[in-house]
Amino acid sequence: METYRAHIVTPHAAGGWADWVDGRLDVEGGVIRSAGPWRRAASYTDVRPHLMLPGLVDVHAHVPQLPVCGVHPENLLDWLQKWTFPLEARFRGARARTLSAGFIREMLGHGTTTAALYTSAWPDSVQACFDAAREAGIHAWIGPPLMDVGAYRTVTTRGVLAETRRLARLDSSRLRFAVTPRFALSCTMELLTGAGDLARELELPVQTHIAEQRDECRAVRRRFHRSYVEVYKRAGLIGPHSLFAHAIWLTDREWKRLSVSAIAHCPTSNLFLNSGVMDWWRAQSARVGLGSDVGAGPDLSIFRVARAAWTVHMMAGAPPAAGDLLRAATLGGAQALGFDDAGSLEAGKSADFILLDAARVIPPGAPEVESTDDLLSRILHRAGHSSIYQVYVAGRLLVDNATHKC
Ligand SMILES: [Zn+2]
Repeated sequence: METYRAHIVTPHAAGGWADWVDGRLDVEGGVIRSAGPWRRAASYTDVRPHLMLPGLVDVHAHVPQLPVCGVHPENLLDWLQKWTFPLEARFRGARARTLSAGFIREMLGHGTTTAALYTSAWPDSVQACFDAAREAGIHAWIGPPLMDVGAYRTVTTRGVLAETRRLARLDSSRLRFAVTPRFALSCTMELLTGAGDLARELELPVQTHIAEQRDECRAVRRRFHRSYVEVYKRAGLIGPHSLFAHAIWLTDREWKRLSVSAIAHCPTSNLFLNSGVMDWWRAQSARVGLGSDVGAGPDLSIFRVARAAWTVHMMAGAPPAAGDLLRAATLGGAQALGFDDAGSLEAGKSADFILLDAARVIPPGAPEVESTDDLLSRILHRAGHSSIYQVYVAGRLLVDNATHKC
């Protein structure tokens, strides 16, 4: 058994946050045995004063799109056609293997240990991403974006569905194969319905985009003669194991329909593509996690996403509390994905945790004792890539910046 002594900060599944300035975490076989205030131990690793938090959860990112991050902001549909699809079309073979491994490393470097990921539409990119995720030991949903309209590869609707059924064999408890219709405009009704049927038959989760931009919603109505939510409902895609990214342009009635599902809130991406602002308070009727939406998001930092969420909702008049946003960035995200053994530092969960360099989060001269709310606010507003000190997945140290700090 390994024992760590640190300043532990974690949400609890039962509600609220624990904040043990002098805390103890016991890990056995990659699983948290107990977490609480410090008690004497015969031997332990002392990482005080650093802050120990659960690994972050990114509920929406596109593995092939990392190379396009930060450039070419335009409207969604043009951006997809001009930059994203050509990039994804090349994401296969050795390139997919190399870039998938690099993506997972980059993600871990930002403190993310659980994620919902889109690969490219090529089947070998799915295998590449599963391999890289398994190697790291992370929790993930992984799925290829299903397309039979405007696709960057020649394939029939039946062909896509047959291929998806074959790839679904990769599904396991820690690495879920997600049925991933890209978005309504990339699919015929036949493909959407086939995807819904397959997910139900094989008990697989579903991830897709919804109501990201106004023009997109208008195009959906023109094509399908009904609202975005109604299209997905008819296809059988809305349920407790479904995750919808963006959810910006929705009516009250549509929000009600989505309340059984989970939402990926992606404010950095929404700012970049000028998509609009999701209604945080209406979204609380569903389970909400935070998504980097790389490549429309600038990087894989979930701290940056949480901060952007605070900023846009502050500008809209009502910012969520820091604790609520950091909960969405950890436990809320894990719950959105249905991973009961991730997202917080509690007994029985996977020992997925990060250490934040305390000196980079708490400025010199700050009070020695602070309320938990003040600490969470400092983490929300000051933590980022440069404050990641170490990252552990299932008790294994995978990122160690301890030696690079001055
Ligand atoms: Zn996306």
